Amino acid sequence: MSYSLPRGTQDILPGKVEIWHSIEKEIRELSRRFNYHEIRTPIFEHTELFQRGVGDSTDIVQKEMYSFEDRGERSLTLRPEGTAGVVRAFVEHKMFGQPDLPEKLYYVGPMFRYERPQAGRYRQFHQFGIEAIGSVDPAVDVEVMSFAVELFRKLGLRDTKLVVNSLGDASSRIAHREALVEHFSGRINEFCSDCQRRLHQNPLRILDCKKDHEHELVGNAPSILSYLNEESRTYFEKVKQYLDALAIPYEVDPTLVRGLDYYNHTCFEVMSTIEGFGAQTTLGGGGRYDGLVEQIGGPSAPGIGFGIGLERVVAAIEAEKSAELASGGIDVFVVALGDEAKDASVSLLSQLRSNGLSADKDYAEKKMKAQLKQANRKGARFVVILGEDELAKGIGVVKVMTTGEQIEVSVNEVATYVAAQKGGA
Ligand code: AMP
Repeated sequence: MSYSLPRGTQDILPGKVEIWHSIEKEIRELSRRFNYHEIRTPIFEHTELFQRGVGDSTDIVQKEMYSFEDRGERSLTLRPEGTAGVVRAFVEHKMFGQPDLPEKLYYVGPMFRYERPQAGRYRQFHQFGIEAIGSVDPAVDVEVMSFAVELFRKLGLRDTKLVVNSLGDASSRIAHREALVEHFSGRINEFCSDCQRRLHQNPLRILDCKKDHEHELVGNAPSILSYLNEESRTYFEKVKQYLDALAIPYEVDPTLVRGLDYYNHTCFEVMSTIEGFGAQTTLGGGGRYDGLVEQIGGPSAPGIGFGIGLERVVAAIEAEKSAELASGGIDVFVVALGDEAKDASVSLLSQLRSNGLSADKDYAEKKMKAQLKQANRKGARFVVILGEDELAKGIGVVKVMTTGEQIEVSVNEVATYVAAQKGGA
């Protein structure tokens, strides 16, 4: 019997995991700067949480959830997205009671959806998301969007595009909904069975259908922007004004609705525009969800957030050949020749690591040339050569791989020397 990966999952192997580390490092650094704090919620939650929090009419709840009954006969579901769990925690821990709202939280971790696997679409994938809960200030909407834009910029992704829309408040949505029902009713039999169900359950979802997105009635459907009431229009204007003030380029797309039920007012997506990136170009998206906290049993507390798919970010980085991030090499490789040098290399390696450097050595008794090749394969920026003659003099030879420059350094000082060189590089 041999085993293989379950469909739609991936192993992230050494050589690739380094890109993930770089992304995660950037995520944490930017969260610090924007003052968002990490929250870790369970991988599984009560199924009902997602039914209520993501919405019964969504594809996620209708057909994509990994739900199971545990031995205590409770229905549990592997989280398909991060917001519902974060909002549950916000309510459960009464974070709404603290004086300085919005509460600004972020999460990183695996999500699970039973979708048809293809490039950029997996059954286990990873999301980074932020949530700002407890404020209706349009400046928060723009903080959230600018966070996403800044993250992609810091990751070296230049070919991205921010697309925004407004879904309006509840009364704007009711007026738009009626217009949509009228628009589609006459020809709903030309649509897939899901859309036929959506017509009365949530006609906005028809605009988001993966099967019918090319139908002419989707293309010329009534735009939500024509149904925004005064208050919703003013809100959207303010959001756009702040985006302009920050010189963040964006497009308004009135057909952008997003797949989840709980959005209102601002919604947005960031796509990769790089050629050949494939069909799944949306790197992340989000929006405002002013009714969600109440829906999940909390007080009325407005919120906004985004979720970014890390597999797609990795693919975009690779597509843009962001060489610096992709390199992932080590700092130092120690080449040791002879028994004494081998002994010395063990403590040198430990000193290098104590000095914060990533360091490795050969453990297979290779010859000098083969060890140097290995150093190259590992992308080492420095090589320290410990030969018998050098050791007799108490020195090691430090080679800077980018320039080929070599310098003799006392063995006891090699670690601090390389650390200083690396800092200055
Ligand atoms: P959503 O929660 O559906 O708004 O998705 C937010 C982001 O998560 C998307 O823009 C994708 O980058 C990513 N994403 C969603 N579903 C998947 C999936 N099945 N596989 C990989 N990434 C996904």
